[in-house]
Amino acid sequence: MFDLTLSFDNGPEPDVTPHVLDTLARRGIKATFFVIGEKLLDPERRRLATRAHDEGHWIGNHTFTHSVPLGQQHDPDTAEHEIARTQDLIGDLAHAKRWFRPFGGGGNLDDRLLKPSVVQHLSAGGYSCVLWNSIPRDWYDPDGWIERALEQCRAQAWSLMVLHDLPTGAMRHLATFLDRAGEAGANFRQEFPRDCVPIRAGEIVLPITSFVSTIEESIAS
Ligand SMILES: [Zn+2]
Repeated sequence: MFDLTLSFDNGPEPDVTPHVLDTLARRGIKATFFVIGEKLLDPERRRLATRAHDEGHWIGNHTFTHSVPLGQQHDPDTAEHEIARTQDLIGDLAHAKRWFRPFGGGGNLDDRLLKPSVVQHLSAGGYSCVLWNSIPRDWYDPDGWIERALEQCRAQAWSLMVLHDLPTGAMRHLATFLDRAGEAGANFRQEFPRDCVPIRAGEIVLPITSFVSTIEESIAS
């Protein structure tokens, strides 16, 4: 038996997200979609985010461009451009806890994720920073990720898994994965393990220094 929270990052995508939503709906599983801001400028993608929200999923902010990890950006306006702009586009689809997920490139949990001015922005804006503890690399291995995902689930009591609703082909196996996880004793839940949320509603509740780069010398005030 294990707990499993699912998250789908980097969408919405018209060729993939509807299938993911259908697959989750058939099983009554609620998840979180960490969306890319610039994709919401497309009305069709924005409608998919609305559909996900209306079906009970949570919508999180996954930066505007998902280009250079925030901890590696020299631009002092990174937070405004990448986070605030996306949150504006998410608008009333946002969860009250204002879920935000940074990225490090390849799923790394290190100081590429954040930088001081971004932490300041998240704190001041009442955001919750949502990391992960399971990343089966579905984008890298679209046909083989299921075995790794199941292994990761069995290895810990509560997995917060990162998957991607991207057109890699990986989501063709989502139904099989969910069925096998269910047979293995998965208890699907929507909330996040505390260990994966170092900033909660603006409050820094876990050590974050290992996720914050020194690209800026001090936190802007
Ligand atoms: Zn991502």
